Amino acid sequence: MREYVPVGEMIPGMAYLVRRLLENTSNESWLRSGFLDKADPSALLAVPARKPGAEEKLDLAMSSSERHSLSRAEPGVGDGRAFVNEALRDFSRVQVRDTFAGAVHGAQVPEVASDTTPEAADAMVERALSAFNGRWKDGTRHKGWRDIEVERRARVLVNAAAAMRARRDELSGIIIKENGKCWVDADADVAEAIDFCEFYAREAVHLFRRERIGRFIGELDEQFYQPRGVAVVISPWNFPLAIAVGMTGAALVTGNTVILKPAEQTAGIAKVAWEILSACIVQEVSMAEGANVLQFCPAPGETTGAALVRDPRVSLLAFTGSKAVGLDIIKAAGVTGEEQTQVKKVVCEMGGKNAIIIDTSADLDEAVLGVRHSTFGFQGQKCSACSRCIVVDPDGPDGEATTLFIKRLVESTRSLVVGDPTRSGTDVGPIIDKAAADMIRGMIETARAEGCREELAMDAPAADASTGTMPTEYVGPHIFSRVEPHHTIARQEIFGPVLAVMHAKSFEEAVAIANDHPYKLTGGVFSRKPAHLERAKREFRVGNLYLNRGCTGALVARQPFGGFGMSGVGSKAGGKDYLLQFVEPRAICENTMRRGFAPEL
Ligand code: NAD
Repeated sequence: MREYVPVGEMIPGMAYLVRRLLENTSNESWLRSGFLDKADPSALLAVPARKPGAEEKLDLAMSSSERHSLSRAEPGVGDGRAFVNEALRDFSRVQVRDTFAGAVHGAQVPEVASDTTPEAADAMVERALSAFNGRWKDGTRHKGWRDIEVERRARVLVNAAAAMRARRDELSGIIIKENGKCWVDADADVAEAIDFCEFYAREAVHLFRRERIGRFIGELDEQFYQPRGVAVVISPWNFPLAIAVGMTGAALVTGNTVILKPAEQTAGIAKVAWEILSACIVQEVSMAEGANVLQFCPAPGETTGAALVRDPRVSLLAFTGSKAVGLDIIKAAGVTGEEQTQVKKVVCEMGGKNAIIIDTSADLDEAVLGVRHSTFGFQGQKCSACSRCIVVDPDGPDGEATTLFIKRLVESTRSLVVGDPTRSGTDVGPIIDKAAADMIRGMIETARAEGCREELAMDAPAADASTGTMPTEYVGPHIFSRVEPHHTIARQEIFGPVLAVMHAKSFEEAVAIANDHPYKLTGGVFSRKPAHLERAKREFRVGNLYLNRGCTGALVARQPFGGFGMSGVGSKAGGKDYLLQFVEPRAICENTMRRGFAPEL
């Protein structure tokens, strides 16, 4: 029996009481299980420790590094350790902040010239093909990457994850200094890269086991997968480590050889990723055999990138970036010359124009923070970012519900700190480059010209060229209301800190507005009406739908990520099906009726 008695000051006491009420009335509470659900007392009283044979194989009291060092011994083997997401840094702790600040200060962005020529890339494809097949220059053979056991390829990824974990804050520092991410987002980028490696390492091992189909007497039917060949990975600047490592790791662990062409703006962190992965490959095979399994190709997209896409020897293109480039790649991949021996597979993730719906029952405390975070995190430069907020108000766009929501959102957004992302207290950093900043400013002008109501136009620091490798241009958060579905800022992906607040008379209309866009990436709903949440699950058609939380920050294996419509033709990154795109299935049928052996032959 416990009695909780708040003693002391009134306000903290009330907060304490509310917290206890929430805990004890939650669906998963011990009290509820005992009194309402009549759970078995032995289950309620059981020690919450590791149970042999239980589905959950992890001792959650173990630190993250302990868990991972266990998994390293048996990388990805079927009954090995379960996958766990890398814990994010807890910046509320002084020591964590101090260590991180030191690492950011010391981090150096490697200098990389994105100047690989199409001719040099052509030679890379030839080398990648030889490394895939296992052919030396003189024509003699060795074991190609495609024939290296999957457990060994998985070990490469697990070792790369360990190497990144050991340099975690430094990698965040490089990201911050190269693309202007704030602390929390840079840390999440690195953690996601580690997660991709750990997750795909485990998934690949299952995939490559031969699966027996059915049981027919005298016949052995099997299906299994083989790698496709040479993969070209083309990555964007906005998740410069996670997406580059995710696509590359998936291609490598499934036995493809890879040419990594990173975004020009963030070739530095991509180079570090390449160095880490390459070192792990060479450590697993040999210097000679591993050298060309993964090649780094910092280059302009329009010339060398485009040439790689069109190379007939390339089997697979894994791309994440803008719709324009993505569609060009899909089109180019469909053109097959006489010399081509296979049809190219394209994995393509593109843009978003994501909406969050706030209905009349929403908890505004949560909704305001959810929308603010989803819209202005990393300056709105996430493909998952919220850029349309649809408020349901039966009393029209100037009704009380809409007015209150906007007022609170504006005040809350005003408290964000815009400035230098190397500092711990900054929420909104610089825009990736001048061209992008000018495009965002142009969108703001268009919104004004089209008659949208400017609710907030936060100042931004002047361009600062003294910060070395960091982006220099700033655009402060902007919020427009009275935005209608035909307005430019409701249609185009802005990729900046600009929010369009729209109005709907009913929840049904809000869902229709949200769906009325070719991009189908993420979406969100804040509501306390179960019927609305259920309707959203059915009818709000996006790749990743989030209910009563922000629409960014998908975690590997927990929220497999990716869209459809004009947002992509790929399967979910960080999901169970992802690796299937990097392989081809083969089936074998053997007549096993014995008719004697002929060993002497
Ligand atoms: P981008 O399309 O400009 O560039 C992406 C990559 O493509 C870069 O490496 C670039 O060099 C290369 N490239 C450019 N032109 C090319 C060509 N003709 N042929 C081959 N390669 C070429 O995109 P970006 O500005 O780096 O990234 C922002 C975009 O990415 C946004 O639209 C965003 O929504 C999208 N994105 C989508 C996801 C997702 O998972 N759906 C994730 C992140 C970013």
